[in-house]
Amino acid sequence: MTKQLSPASDSVICHSFVLRASSFAGIPGVVPRDRAGQRCLPSVERLDWRVVRLVLFDIDGTLIYTGGAGVKAFGCAFAAEFNIPNGTERLKFSGRTDTGLAREFFLQNRLEPSPENFRRFFDSYVFWLDHLLTQTRGGVFPGVWQFIHELHALPGPPAIGLLTGNIRLGAEIKLRHFELWEVFQTGAFADDHEDRNQIAALARQRGSRLLDSPLRGEEILVIGDTPRDIECARAIDAKILAVATGGARFDELKAHHPDWLVEDFTKVKAKEVCSEG
Ligand SMILES: [Mg+2]
Repeated sequence: MTKQLSPASDSVICHSFVLRASSFAGIPGVVPRDRAGQRCLPSVERLDWRVVRLVLFDIDGTLIYTGGAGVKAFGCAFAAEFNIPNGTERLKFSGRTDTGLAREFFLQNRLEPSPENFRRFFDSYVFWLDHLLTQTRGGVFPGVWQFIHELHALPGPPAIGLLTGNIRLGAEIKLRHFELWEVFQTGAFADDHEDRNQIAALARQRGSRLLDSPLRGEEILVIGDTPRDIECARAIDAKILAVATGGARFDELKAHHPDWLVEDFTKVKAKEVCSEG
């Protein structure tokens, strides 16, 4: 049953998290350490009081909005490399993988989806993406940084990774632009696989390698903004927190029965979605 979270009532605990997180607030990518200076990565021994060991974030519509830079970069690359204007008109981007979108474009326009055409397209795409991000008004969604700080401040914080339909370099360009890239310790991308469910399986594998022990599905929390994020979380038996900030409306997400559903990150505390059995 989907839980719709309201603003947390446990303001005392919440406040202490904010204070504990303040040592790295505003400094992206700093890994929390204990008093002896050791990295506070999750450990198997601590599982008795912490359930989620890996949190996997979608990017577009979940962490950030690019003001249309991503879609425009697709269009510019289609036009520049293949001389096809308005190439994005018949594509639906939300929740899709970059490689799947490029393949659909090739097929719609009777171009061969060859490795060479994929390479030509993505070489151009990342150039345009990097350029257009400086021209459009994007940002990080409200509450994202606070939520990340709360994850770091949990006792035995989970590893933080990406599960995205972006190609890796595209993800890096977008997240570096918003100073978020260094937050993430692992991830799986559209150039790993075209199918989002397979990307999820890879993210789980890499998370297990990072933590040096196999992850059970219930030890993974996926966070995303579309029914496809919910679907790929289910594909690896992970929990799913849906945020209605991007590609799907609140009611649409609710119909897909995520474990948690919120309007945005200001409506959820990390411990609410990482500490339950
Ligand atoms: Mg998304």
